[in-house]
Amino acid sequence: MIRLNDIVDRVLSYHPEADVSLIEKAYVYSAKAHAGQVRLSGEPYLMHPLGVADILARMRLDVFSITSGLLHDTLEDTDTNLDDLTHLFGSEVSHIVDGVTKIGRFEFSSHEERQAENMRKMILAMADDIRVVLIKLADRLHNMRTLNYHGVGKQRLIARETMDIYAPLAGRLGIDWIKTELEDLAFSYLDPDVYEEIVSGLKRNEDERERYIKEVKDVIQEKLAELDLEGKVSGRPKHIYSIYKKMIAQNLDLEHIYDIIAFRIILNSIRECYEALGVIHSSWKPIPGRFKDYIGMPKANMYQSLHTTVIGPYGERVEIQIRTEEMHSIANEGIAAHWVYKEGRSFPENESKRFTWLRQLLEWQQDLKDPREFLETVRVDLFPDDVYVFTPNGDVKAFPRGSTPIDFAYSVHTEVGNQCTGAKVNGKLVPLKYELKNGDIVEIITSSKHVPSKDWLKIVKTSRARTRIRHWIKTEERERSIALGREICEREFRKHGLNFNQYLNSEEFFQVAQSFSLQKVEDLLASIGYGKISALQAIGKLTSLVEPEEKPEELVVERPERKERPSHRGGVLVKGADDILVRFAKCCNPLPGEQIAGFITRGRGVSVHRADCASLLSSGFERRIEVEWDREAEEVHPVGLAVICANVKGMLAAISGTLSNHDINILQANVRTRVDNRAECKFVVEVRDTDHLLGAMAAVRKIKNVIDVQRSSVLDIR
Ligand code: MN
Repeated sequence: MIRLNDIVDRVLSYHPEADVSLIEKAYVYSAKAHAGQVRLSGEPYLMHPLGVADILARMRLDVFSITSGLLHDTLEDTDTNLDDLTHLFGSEVSHIVDGVTKIGRFEFSSHEERQAENMRKMILAMADDIRVVLIKLADRLHNMRTLNYHGVGKQRLIARETMDIYAPLAGRLGIDWIKTELEDLAFSYLDPDVYEEIVSGLKRNEDERERYIKEVKDVIQEKLAELDLEGKVSGRPKHIYSIYKKMIAQNLDLEHIYDIIAFRIILNSIRECYEALGVIHSSWKPIPGRFKDYIGMPKANMYQSLHTTVIGPYGERVEIQIRTEEMHSIANEGIAAHWVYKEGRSFPENESKRFTWLRQLLEWQQDLKDPREFLETVRVDLFPDDVYVFTPNGDVKAFPRGSTPIDFAYSVHTEVGNQCTGAKVNGKLVPLKYELKNGDIVEIITSSKHVPSKDWLKIVKTSRARTRIRHWIKTEERERSIALGREICEREFRKHGLNFNQYLNSEEFFQVAQSFSLQKVEDLLASIGYGKISALQAIGKLTSLVEPEEKPEELVVERPERKERPSHRGGVLVKGADDILVRFAKCCNPLPGEQIAGFITRGRGVSVHRADCASLLSSGFERRIEVEWDREAEEVHPVGLAVICANVKGMLAAISGTLSNHDINILQANVRTRVDNRAECKFVVEVRDTDHLLGAMAAVRKIKNVIDVQRSSVLDIR
C-alpha cells in the first residue's frame, strides 16, 4: 500500500528544496473530494490517485505534476470544478488536470485509422503541456495494474487500447519501463494462455538461464578487466511481450531462444563504451548487420547505446547493449529524465525545445502498420501554420491556415464538397469564404441540387478541394458539350431529312467517330459541341458510309447560307474551353470594347451578352461562363444604327458618305419618312469595336440636319 509520506520522501530525494506542502494539500483535498467513492477492488478510491502520484514520483517529475496526479480525477468524478482547482492549487495545476480530463473523454477505438486520428488528438493536447500525457500514462499504468477487477470484456477493451495507443506512446517518449510494463500487462489480458506459457517456460529454465547469464557475465567482466575498464555487467530476460514477438518472428519455441536474454554493460564514458565494444567484437564474432551505433546517431527519443549481437560461448546469439550511466537513465526514464528539477526551475525546456519534442514524436508513424493516414495528417499538422477543427462528432481535422468550410467539406467527402451550400461554425452560419480557426466546430450544409463554382478555386487552400473542384468542372464541361453536340446533331440531321437517333448507336456513326481519330461516339458529340467538328462534316462522312452510291459531294459542297450571325468564334475567347460554339446575343449585340459575359445555351453553344444585359442578368447564374474578347482577332461586327434627320434631299447620301469615310461597310440601309416631316434612316453596318462605332456616330451627328443618332440592336431591317 502506497502512503503519501513515501511519495513525499521520494520527491525530496531528487529535489530536496521542493515545496511539498502543495502535494500534501492536494492529498487532503483529493481524499475529501473522493470520500465515499470505492474502486472495484473494494479499496477507497483515493488509492488510485495515490498510485498515480507514486508512478509520477518514480518518473522524478516536478511538484506540479505530482500534485496534478493526486487531483487528476477530481474534475471528472467529483463536484470539483476548474475554478476550485485554480483557486486552491494555481493555474498550472488546474491547466494540467483539465488537459488530463479532456484526454480521458476521448474514446480510442481499435480500428487502425481511428487510432491515428485519436493519437493526433493526444498530440494536440500535448502541444499544450507534455505533463498532461505523462500523467495520462501513469493513470493508465495504475489502471492496468488493477485491471483484474473488471469483467473480461472490459479487460480486453482496455488492454487493446493500452497495446495500441499507450504503450507506443510511452515508447516514443522514451520511458522504457512504462512501455514494457504496459505491454506485458496488456498482453496478459489479450492472450492469457500464451502469456502463461512463456512465464512458466521462463520459470522452468530459470536455473539453467541463471547459470548461463553468470557465465557470460564473468567472461565479459574478465575481458573488460584486461583493459582496465570498470563496467557494470548485467543480464536478464527480455520482457514477456518482446519474447513473444521474437518467438513469432523467428518461429522458435522458448527452449531455443538464447537471445531472450539481453546483456548490458554500463561504463563511465563514451570512450569506454567504444573500447568495450572493441573487446566484445574481438572476443566473439559479431553478426553482420546487427551492430547499431545509437551513441553516434541517437534515436528520436534521445535514446543512446551501442547495440550488437555476437556468436557467444556455445555458438548461440548473444545480444549486448553498451552505454554510460547517463544514457541508461535516459533509456529508462526518457523524457522524464529531463524533467528533473535543475536549480529550482521546473522547466529547463524552452518553447522551441518542446516543439522539437513534438516533431520527434512524429517518428511514431514508423511504428504504425499502415502509416498512410497518420503521415498524411500528422506530418503537416505540426507545422505552425495549421488549424485544427472539430467535426460535429468531435473528430479532429487539420487544415492549412486560411482554409475554408469548402476545404472542410471536401475533406469529408467529394459529394459533400460538391453540394456544399453553406456552413455553420460553432452553431452560427458563416460565409463559404470564412477562414477556419483552431477549435472551431464545423458543420457543412449541403443541397443535392447545388454544384461547385469556379470561384471556389480562388478561396480553397487544400489541394484535395482544388483537385475535386477542377475535376467536377472538367466533367461538367464535357457532359455539357456532349449534350450540346447531340442537340446540334439532331437539328442538322433533321435539316437533311435524317433521324439522328436512328444513327446514334449505329456502327456507321461509330466509324464516323473513328474517322476523326476519336475513340467513342461520345467524343465525337463532345467535339461537335465544342465546335471542333461541324455536324455537317459528320453527316457528310455518315452519308458516304451509308449510301456511297448517292452523290455524297452534294451534301458536303452545298453548305447552306448562314442566315444568322456567323456562328464561328467571332473574336471571343471562352475561358477554360477552347473551340466552343460562340454566338452573339441578339438582345444586346455586344461589340469589342464592351464588358461581356457568356451564357451556356441549350443546344446553341455559348451566347455572348453585354455584361450588363438585362436578359442575361435575369437568367440562371449557374449557366454563366467567363468570356473575353480575343485581342488578336481582326473581326468586324454588325451593328444597327438609327438616324433621325430632317426630311430633306441627299440625307442618305450624306450619311453613307460619312460612314464610308470612317471605313465602315454598310450592309443594309432603309429610309422611312415620318408624319412629323422627319426621316428615319436605319442602317446595319460593320464595325471593329466600340471606338470605331462611336467615332462614326459622332461624325454623323455633325452632319447638317441630323437630329439624333442611336445604336440599335436590330440587325435585319429589310
Ligand atoms: Mn484515473
